[in-house]
Amino acid sequence: MLEEIPFNPVEVAERLLAWYGKSGRDLPWRHTRDPYPIWISEIMLQQTTVTAVIPYFEAFLRRFPDVRSLAAAPVEKVIEQWAGLGYYRRAKYLHATAVEIVTRWNGQFPGTLEQLQELPGIGRSTAGAILSIAFDQPAPILDGNVRRVLCRLFALRLPTRSSQGEKMLWRWAEALTPAEQTHDYSQAIMDLGAMVCLPGRPRCGECPLVVLCQAKRLGLADELPLAAPKKTLPTVRQVALAIREGDRWLVRRRSLEGMLGGLWEFPTTEVLEQETAEIAARRLATDLGVELVGKRVGEVRHGYSHFRLELTLFVAEQSLARVAEGQGGQVVTLLDLESLPLHGAHKKLLPLLTRYAGQQGSTRNPEQ
Ligand code: SF4
Repeated sequence: MLEEIPFNPVEVAERLLAWYGKSGRDLPWRHTRDPYPIWISEIMLQQTTVTAVIPYFEAFLRRFPDVRSLAAAPVEKVIEQWAGLGYYRRAKYLHATAVEIVTRWNGQFPGTLEQLQELPGIGRSTAGAILSIAFDQPAPILDGNVRRVLCRLFALRLPTRSSQGEKMLWRWAEALTPAEQTHDYSQAIMDLGAMVCLPGRPRCGECPLVVLCQAKRLGLADELPLAAPKKTLPTVRQVALAIREGDRWLVRRRSLEGMLGGLWEFPTTEVLEQETAEIAARRLATDLGVELVGKRVGEVRHGYSHFRLELTLFVAEQSLARVAEGQGGQVVTLLDLESLPLHGAHKKLLPLLTRYAGQQGSTRNPEQ
């Protein structure tokens, strides 16, 4: 394997560690070797930027200061605390993992790559981050930043998520991870990706690896990583029915199982083939026992990893007590909705509803 590497791997670690000593970031989860906050930060950082994560991380640790308090909380409270960070499956995995650590591992994080990867939501890179950062074990990591650094360092001419590309990146990550000081090494290579080897335009002039970098040598630094071929995603059409009485609106919590589980939304149904949005909205209103007198208020689009959603919004004016009771819903104001964990597409409906309420008069009561 090592003959594939066009430089001495030890030199990469030495250069990165020297650079990290001077230029590494001071982040709240770096003030500890406790695997609990390190794990929380790694999960939060999976799809979210450092700047956005910091306040959520601090608030989360205040609410759930250790793995036992997280395991003891109802999962709905964990999702509530996560509200705004997106990709809510991460919150459910955090909770499920905390429960497993408490029940199966007596509150201690397991100490091998295999054991960590058996926990919900912990893949190979996150397991490597926990082992290297918390326990200083020589476990490689391959998060988005590290992927980009290695792709350029080795001038990989394959998309980094292709199966062949992925295999090569892991082999290089393993070969470069030093036997010692992995606590610093892992953070150093992540920081290099976040601060210097940037996605759009790498700052090669500031890079400690510039003399080793194959992409730089070949003039490919700005072109790598190669983009994955675009997938054509199917479009799913849905209608949402926002039922209001005065300034209060009905929302329901999605079942904990399945996609977007535990998040709140306005009653929703899929628009069937051959149906118009109006017909689907009337069908939904009938199911809810509501008379649909309003018209469509607007439409939003939202992208998911495997489909695109076109969501059309209708509003019905209705006495809410009976509907809410029958639907297991909650009646809230638009202001309350800002802080409820609504799923992304329904969050996009809020400006439409605010405008609608402004036009109609927010205190109008359908009984009057
Ligand atoms: Fe990235 Fe440039 Fe450094 Fe290569 S030299 S690792 S492209 S910043």
